[in-house]
This record gives sequence, structure tokens and C-alpha cells, in this order.
Amino acid sequence: MGSEHEHILMLPFLAQGHLIPFLELARKIHQRIAGFTITIVSTPLNIHYLRSTISSHSNIYLAELPFCSTDHGLQPDTENTEKLSANNLLTFCHASVTLEAPFRNLVHDIMEQDGRPPLCIISDVFFGWAVNVAKSVGSKSVTFTTCGAYGTAAYMSFWLNLPHRHTDCEEFTLPGFPDSHRFHRSHLHQSAKAADGADKWSAFMQSQISLSLLSQVWLCNTVEEIEPLGLEVLRKYLKLPVCAVGPLLSSAALKKGSYSSPFGSNSHVCQRTGKKPGIFHKKCLEWLNIHGPDSVVYISFGSQNTISASQMRELALGLEVCGKPFIWVLRPPIRFDMKGESRGGWLPEGFEKRMTDSKQGLLVHNWAPQLEILAHESTGAFLSHCGWNSVLESLSQGVPIIGWPMGAEQTYNTKMLVEEMGVCEVLARAVQCDVAGKEVKRVIELVMDKKKGKGLEMKKKAAEIGERIRAAAGKDQDHGKDVPSIKALDQFVRTILTKTT
Ligand code: UDP
Repeated sequence: MGSEHEHILMLPFLAQGHLIPFLELARKIHQRIAGFTITIVSTPLNIHYLRSTISSHSNIYLAELPFCSTDHGLQPDTENTEKLSANNLLTFCHASVTLEAPFRNLVHDIMEQDGRPPLCIISDVFFGWAVNVAKSVGSKSVTFTTCGAYGTAAYMSFWLNLPHRHTDCEEFTLPGFPDSHRFHRSHLHQSAKAADGADKWSAFMQSQISLSLLSQVWLCNTVEEIEPLGLEVLRKYLKLPVCAVGPLLSSAALKKGSYSSPFGSNSHVCQRTGKKPGIFHKKCLEWLNIHGPDSVVYISFGSQNTISASQMRELALGLEVCGKPFIWVLRPPIRFDMKGESRGGWLPEGFEKRMTDSKQGLLVHNWAPQLEILAHESTGAFLSHCGWNSVLESLSQGVPIIGWPMGAEQTYNTKMLVEEMGVCEVLARAVQCDVAGKEVKRVIELVMDKKKGKGLEMKKKAAEIGERIRAAAGKDQDHGKDVPSIKALDQFVRTILTKTT
């Protein structure tokens, strides 16, 4: 018995920053075009997480692939980068490739049930092997990069060409980018700097990216109007239809000050703690309410990164002498156990008590309601690792960024935020670098000075970009409108519905 609906399968990489935009993409496709069956495929714990977030979107189906992390030398239940220490990331990436066989089985089961292959398989760029699966069963293959166009183009070009190996200079160019566009060796994170083509990171990246390049359509979580250079380079580089279907933010992120969770109230569950953040929400928002507009610095390094104990102490010292109010999402520093050591060891003596008593700082442990904090009018800057979701969330609220990129494509995001958009000041780079408290103070003061100079400029530019992001996304509930993200989505649907011979 066949299904009347065409089937779209979606396969996000196993990381929080990938699951959320994939889910938002599923929601957006479903909202725009009824009549597709959409199934998101992942490992059991990720599916459990997704299930807890999509109860109100029951038309999106979920399917589990068996995965046992201990078979790959990882800790039990490691199914997401959120639970992973940085030195196990590579093992985890290689382990993820073993999902190909169960995924193939699932596709065959679906074919038997539907009486035909899925219309298309939308896979993460880190799951290039899924392009092979799609091609082998006659489904359209679509790659979705959850990051921006500039970051995607630079990251892929870097890993495929390793241009820093071909020059003794500190600066290098990236194939696909204009020659005038220089990249700096010192901005590369450790595994990229050390990559020589024969190492395991290069092997993983080159194989998955090369396979992804064979897909028929490319989706990118960005907005045509905010990334003209990135999209131009990406299109030239890929020679494929590239649809800028972003911003894949929660639809509630569209108005400053009016956020509620994309997945139903208080349902954005932290994978590490398993807690719903209701109590944090209340505490953070009450705390923001007692501070003035644009006065608070929000500090978070995403769902998987942390900094070293010495960096943490310097950051704390800088915050204290600077005196600006802040909310800091605190994670145990590198090499400290998540549950073990007391935080007395990582922070200056008495810091937390002084900050609490004076109401200068709120320390939130592990997970904060980021979008709500960014959407609050008291938030004036975001000290961020520049993960793409954080970037979009911050800019959608007109909040300028203090950059501290750490891994993945974050260093390229930061470069674009500084050079192309003018909305970011860099404080530090990489997980291991020296950060002085007085530099923390200098940068925060510069960005938080909204009355003059660079701080004022950055605020204006972030506000303009925020408007463009909200305009691209905000009207998507208004079905008749020709907004960019809807045009891109329609282009995508036309492409997957086009018969190829
Ligand atoms: N996030 C959050 N609270 C936190 C840390 C992260 O809500 O305390 C969310 C954040 O809003 C974003 C995602 O987790 O949607 C992190 O994605 P990003 O691409 O910025 O970084 P990654 O975690 O992938 O490095």
C-alpha cells in the first residue's frame, strides 16, 4: 500500500546547533507546503530530545537509527556533541559514519511502505555519505549546511584545499574567494592549523564534504540580503542551486522582547542536564528587568564549548573591574569534570558572591534561555563563540557581538561579522589563548558605549541587519508575501519536484 504524500527524509548531524535548524526547516517546509511527509532521522537520544520539542508539530515524524557510542570507544550515551569533550570529537565524527548502514535499511523500509523512494533526502554536510544513499535509490540529494554562506564556503574551501600548506606566509587566500580577501594562519583553530591532508580530521572532512558536493541542491541557513559576498562565493564554488532558506530561527524570535520557545513554552530541554529551563527563564528575565536598556553583556560559548580555567579567571576579573552588568552561562573549564570540581577553583575568590550581592552579574550554570535573553531590551552585547545560530539569534535582535571564535567555521563567521557587517569586535581567538582581564574590560567598554564611536556604529549596523533578518523571516506566516526566505523555499521545492532523467 503506497502513501499518497511524497516523503522527505532529513538527516541532521548529531549536535544541538544542527538539530534545531533542521527541525525549524522541517517546520517551515511543512508550513509552506502541506502534502509532504517529513521524517527527521537520528539516533535514539536525539530523537528523544526532538520528540520532547515537537509535540505541537505532529506532522513531522521521527525515526531512530541504532547507535551504541561505547562500540566506538566513547562514553555511554554519547550521541550528541553536547556531551563530548573536545578531544573525543574526531572519534565521534568517525563513529557517525557508521550510521550509513542503518540509514540505508531505514530508506529501504520506507520504500517498501510508500511504494516508492523518498522524494529527497536532506542531509547535513557532515553526512556526505547520505548523498550516496539518495543517489542509489533514486531520491533527490540535498545538502543543508546549518551555518551561514560565508562560513560554509570558507570552511569547505579550507578543508578541500588546505591552502595554508602551500605558503610560508602568515596570510593565505582561499580558492573561491576574491584574491583581495586574505585569511590569517593565526586565526585557524588547532586541528585546522595542523591539517596536512594525511591527518584524520582532513580524512573525515574531505570525504564528507566531497560527497556532499555531489548533491543536487544546497540549502543554507542564511538570508540573501545579509550575506551577499558569502552567497556569491558559495554559488560560484558549488555550481549548484543554493537556496538561502534562513533565518531558521524560532518564529518567535522575530520581535524584540516577545520571545517564547519555538517548541512550546519552556520545552527547550538542555541535553546535558535534561532539565527544562523554566526556572532559569524566570530568574534571568527577572534579573534583566532590574537593569536598564542596552546595559547587560550576555556571555555564552554555545552548546559544546568551554574555556580554560585561566581564561575564565581573567574573564571574571575583566568583568568585575569593568563593572557592567552581565549574565554568564558558566561551564566547567577545559579538563574539569562536568559534575566534579567546585567552581571556587575556576573563578576568583568570592567572585560569585560579590557579583550576586551587588547584582552586577548573574551566573547561570550550563544552559540559559539564550533567545529570551537576547530578545530582552536590557541586553546590549553578546560575548559569543560566534556559532552560526548564536550569530543569527543575536543579530535578529540587533545585538552587537564580542567575538571569541573557538572551532568549526566560527573564525570565518567572526571575520565576516567584523569585515563585511561591522557588528563585531574580536576579544580572543581559540580555546587556548591568553586573554587579559584589562583587554576584556577594554573591549566590553568599547562595544557597550552606545553613545559614540565604534559601539554606536556597531549598534546601528546590528539593528539594520536585525531588521533585514526579521523581514526575511517574519512575514513567512503571511503566506501571500514574496519574502526572500519563502522565495528560496519555493525554489527548493520546485527543484526537488522537477523530474530528472
Ligand atoms: N543555546 C541556548 N542556551 C545556552 C547555550 C546555547 O539556548 O546556554 C542555544 C543557542 O540559542 C543556539 C544553540 O544553542 O541556538 C547553539 O548553537 P550555535 O550554532 O550558536 O553553537 P554550537 O553550540 O553549535 O557551537
